[in-house]
Amino acid sequence: MEKDIFCKIVDGEIPCHKLFEDADVMAFLDIAQVTKGHALVIPKQHYDNFLSTPSEIMHKVFDVAQRIGQIDIQFLGAKGVNILTNCYEVAGQTVNHFHVHVIPRYEKNEGFMLEMKAGSRNNLPIIAKTIKDNL
Ligand code: 5GP
Repeated sequence: MEKDIFCKIVDGEIPCHKLFEDADVMAFLDIAQVTKGHALVIPKQHYDNFLSTPSEIMHKVFDVAQRIGQIDIQFLGAKGVNILTNCYEVAGQTVNHFHVHVIPRYEKNEGFMLEMKAGSRNNLPIIAKTIKDNL
């Protein structure tokens, strides 16, 4: 199977601005720089997305994302941070290798905008039961 772009970055076949690397996790600047310092944190081993990543590795990735977010605020002058991971194409995932975006925020109306419009509240008891019964 063709290697995805992040596997190629892990293997050093594609250059990146690396922020962190240990045995399991790597972090580097996103090529798109939605805002200054926009970073990606990934497991070095390939997993398609957050939902299919083993818990221990998923936690290691988020530990690094948290630290980068703290640094964005302490050292880059960010006033906030969005932590985001897209799962599957319908949710905006374009690279099928689990990654967490760490997006520093300096102003409300810049590069990254997330809008959550309230939707239907029909069938909430059934929806809640379906999730609860399967947790
Ligand atoms: P997704 O849309 O899957 O959540 O995010 C994929 C991200 O990977 C995008 O923000 C995109 O800019 C970034 N990206 C794609 N190709 C490369 C690359 O070759 N290098 C780096 N550093 N980032 C990349």
